[in-house]
Amino acid sequence: MRDTIEKITKDKCCACFACVNTCPKICISMVKENCGSLYPQIDKNKCIQCGSCIKVCPALQEIPASEPQKVFAAYSKDLSVRGSSTSGGVATEIAKYTVRCGGVVYGAAMIGMEVRHIRITSLNDIDKIQGSKYVHSHMYDIYKQVESDLKQNIPIVFIGTPCQIAGVSRYLNDIPDNLILIDILCHGVSSLDCFLCGINLETKKAVSSVSFRDGNKYCLEGYDNGGNCIFKTPYRASFWLNGFVEGYIFRENCYACKYAGKNRCGDITIGDFWGLKNEYDISKGVNLVAINSDKGMRLWGEISNSFNCEERKLEEAIPYNHPLREPAHKPVNYDRFCNIYNDKGGIKALIKAYPNKTLYIWLRRGIRKNKKLYKIVTGLPLIGNKLKEYS
Ligand SMILES: Cc1cc2nc3c(=O)[nH]c(=O)nc-3n(C[C@H](O)[C@H](O)[C@H](O)COP(=O)(O)OP(=O)(O)OC[C@H]3O[C@@H](n4cnc5c(N)ncnc54)[C@H](O)[C@@H]3O)c2cc1C
Ligand code: SF4
Ligand code: SF4
Ligand code: SF4
Repeated sequence: MRDTIEKITKDKCCACFACVNTCPKICISMVKENCGSLYPQIDKNKCIQCGSCIKVCPALQEIPASEPQKVFAAYSKDLSVRGSSTSGGVATEIAKYTVRCGGVVYGAAMIGMEVRHIRITSLNDIDKIQGSKYVHSHMYDIYKQVESDLKQNIPIVFIGTPCQIAGVSRYLNDIPDNLILIDILCHGVSSLDCFLCGINLETKKAVSSVSFRDGNKYCLEGYDNGGNCIFKTPYRASFWLNGFVEGYIFRENCYACKYAGKNRCGDITIGDFWGLKNEYDISKGVNLVAINSDKGMRLWGEISNSFNCEERKLEEAIPYNHPLREPAHKPVNYDRFCNIYNDKGGIKALIKAYPNKTLYIWLRRGIRKNKKLYKIVTGLPLIGNKLKEYS
C-alpha cells in the first residue's frame, strides 16, 4: 500500500493545498481540526492510492531556496498606494505593473469574512489583495488556475507566504520563465476559525470586513456592510491580535517553519524593513525587498522607478525580523491553548490559555471603555503614554 498525505503530522502540514489540487480523484478535502486549522482528509472510498499527494507535498521535500542577490529598502512613490498598503506598497506596485502588462496576479483577499487566494486581471480589483490579512489563506483550486494561465504565456505573479510558494512550486514542478514567485516574510498565521472567535470577542454585531493595521501599528478594525466602523481595537487590547502579534495562536507547523532563514524560496521576498534608523519615516511603511533570482532582478529592473529605494544589507534587517533567522518560538502554554480550544472552543481558549496576558488585556479593554478612568490613567506620569498607545 502506498503512502498518502495522512502520514504528514500536524507539526509539518502547512495547509498549502498542493495535495488537494493534485489528487486525480478529487478525494482530498480540507477539514477543521486542531485549533480550527485545516488539515487534509482523504475519502478512502475514492482514493486509488496513486501516491501523487505525498509526492507533491512540500513538507517532505527540500524546497530550493537562494540567498538574496540584492536587498533594498523601498516604498512606493505613489502616496495613496503607500498609505493603503501594509508596508511600502511594493506588492501592490508589482501587481499593478503585471496587470498593466496584460498579466495575471494571484494574491490573498478577504472575501466576506474568509481569507482566500484569488486571481486578478483588472487594475480595479488590485485593492482586494492589498494589505496583510493575518489569517491562513484558503487556496481552493488556485494552483490549477495558475497552471491553466501559464499555457497562455502571459506574465504571472503569485504572491503568498513561503509555504504557499513552496506549494505552488511543488504542484507545478517546473517553474516557467513567465511565472514570478513572491514570498512575503511570515512569522505565522492564525486559523480562520480562531480569527472569527477573536472577532466575536470584539462585537456581537455582524462584521462584513476587517483591517489588521492602522498605518504601521497593529490594530483590529471591523466594519459593517455599509463600511461603518463597528470596533477599533489596538493589538494589546485584542485577545486575538495580541495572540497573533506575540505568537501564541499560530498554526502548529509555524513553530517549526522550514522556510524561516536567509535563503528564500521566492524570486523576490518582501516584508517590513524594521530596524532602519531615523533616515526613513517607518511609520508610513517601508518594505524590505530581497531579490533572490535573475528573474526577480529583471522584474525589479523594470519597476524600480516606481519606488523610492536604496540598496541596503540583509544583515541590517535580520536582528529585527525573526522569519529571516528562525521560526517563532512555541509558547510554553501552546498545548494548553490547543486543549482548551479543542474541548471548549476558541473563545474560551483565547481568554483562558494565557492567564498572565488575560489580566492585562481585560484591564486595557476596561480602561478604554471607561472615559473617566481612561483620562485619569492615561494622564499618569511614566505609564500614561504607554497605556494610551496600547489601549
Ligand atoms: C500572516 C502574515 C505574517 C507576516 N509576518 C511578517 C513578519 O514577521 N515580518 C515582516 O517583515 N513582514 C511580515 N508580513 C508581511 C507584511 O505584513 C507585508 O505583507 C509585506 O511587507 C508586504 O507589504 P506591502 O506593503 O508590499 O504589501 P501590500 O501592497 O499591502 O500587499 C499585501 C500582499 O500580501 C499578500 N497577503 C496578504 N495577506 C496574506 C495572507 N494571509 N497569506 C498570503 N499572502 C497574503 C497579498 O496577496 C498582497 O500581495 C506578514 C504578512 C502576513 C500576511
Ligand atoms: S493517493 Fe492518489 S487518489 Fe489517494 S488521496 Fe492521494 S492523490 Fe488522491
Ligand atoms: S501538500 Fe500541503 S496541505 Fe497537503 S499534506 Fe502536504 S503540507 Fe499539508
Ligand atoms: S510561518 Fe512558515 S509555515 Fe507558517 S504560514 Fe508562515 S511560511 Fe507558512
